[in-house]
Amino acid sequence: MSALERTDPDVAAIIADERVRQVETLEMIASENYASAAVLEATGSVFTNKYAEGYSGKRYYAGNVHSDRVETLAIDRAKALFGVDHANVQPTSGAEANMAAYFATIEPGDTVMGLSLDQGGHLTHGSPVNFSGRLYTIVPYTVDRETEMLDMAAIRRQALECRPKIIVAGYTAYPRAIDFAAFAEVAAACGALLMVDMSHIAGLVAGGAHMSPAPYADMITSTTHKTLRGPRGALILSKAALAEAIDKAVFPGTQGGPHMHSIAAKAVAFGEALTPQFRAYAHKVVENAATLADALMAGGLRLVSGGTDNHLILADCNAVGISGLKAQNALQGAGIITNKNTIPNDTRSPFVGSGLRLGSAALTSRAMGGDEMRRVAAWIVRVLKDPDGDGVRETVRQEVAEFARAYPVPGITDAV
Ligand SMILES: *Cc1c(COP(=O)(O)O)cnc(C)c1O
Repeated sequence: MSALERTDPDVAAIIADERVRQVETLEMIASENYASAAVLEATGSVFTNKYAEGYSGKRYYAGNVHSDRVETLAIDRAKALFGVDHANVQPTSGAEANMAAYFATIEPGDTVMGLSLDQGGHLTHGSPVNFSGRLYTIVPYTVDRETEMLDMAAIRRQALECRPKIIVAGYTAYPRAIDFAAFAEVAAACGALLMVDMSHIAGLVAGGAHMSPAPYADMITSTTHKTLRGPRGALILSKAALAEAIDKAVFPGTQGGPHMHSIAAKAVAFGEALTPQFRAYAHKVVENAATLADALMAGGLRLVSGGTDNHLILADCNAVGISGLKAQNALQGAGIITNKNTIPNDTRSPFVGSGLRLGSAALTSRAMGGDEMRRVAAWIVRVLKDPDGDGVRETVRQEVAEFARAYPVPGITDAV
């Protein structure tokens, strides 16, 4: 019996149920993944106990000899992994990394250009309900109405007109490759900094399955828990010139004590991402998304932009006559976990949405391949074409649970 089972059976039972849920369902939320047993162990380690305000060698409290070692290791591995001058591994989440990046480089009122939220941008790229939209002058760009892809010529014209201080590239629901070199050219032409938020694609970048922003961006923010498969948290990478400003903006600018347990786990995850196995994983994620996309289109779904180049698919549920919310709920009933999303120029509210966002990263972590993607696509199509059919949903749920159990979840050995 574990310490938790002995001392708090209530919480232990909830966590045990969550383990079973993760084993028996198909996790297709594009921002989720399964961290390894090693990452989970570091996250649950005694570094939870330590305050380490400051940076290695410059802490405000005593007792940080090992905190210094583990943070330095995380930084060195992040720099090697992404080929950058500077890494700050303290941001506790993607939102805080973005806040620190803005605080390091611009003033309230300055203009920021980011992709419109309803077209795939993130809240922290200028939503009115987020600090970014409240503090800065936001000029959103959009995807092209016809192709549903970024139009670099249109973005260039807009940037030359509004002269932003920062252009943000990197998204939460954009299924296509991003041309960071083209963004750098636009930023240079209008005198802006290029900030790349690679939260979604960091694992693909690390594994060489997406163009790296490192040669082009002034600063790069990223979560560590999406395709990168690390602990919940984030990092900021930059050229040497911005290193000091970014470190100051993280601490003391926007955060207090760093989460040393997460930083230890980030070191583990970066170490894993430096291996040839992770490179193979990243390429497989992209291959699996393409297979899934083809199978969904063959089944009658329309995909935004007509396909995918990365780990993410955005399906237009109008093609099967239902909303994104209805699709999400029907699939959840069948054990397939996804999220509703708006699509470009959506006519439904964000709470309902016309789109369904799907990702291949977590299933690929369970060692699934092309055959499995085709089976999963068939289940999705079956449920979406009969979203009110209780029988269909229940049959699929049982088939999915049996199928899913055959593919071990990294980090879970004891689901009962
Ligand atoms: C997920 C995400 C974030 C936010 O990360 P949190 O850790 O949830 O705060 C920021 N930007 C992009 C592009 C994301 O996809």
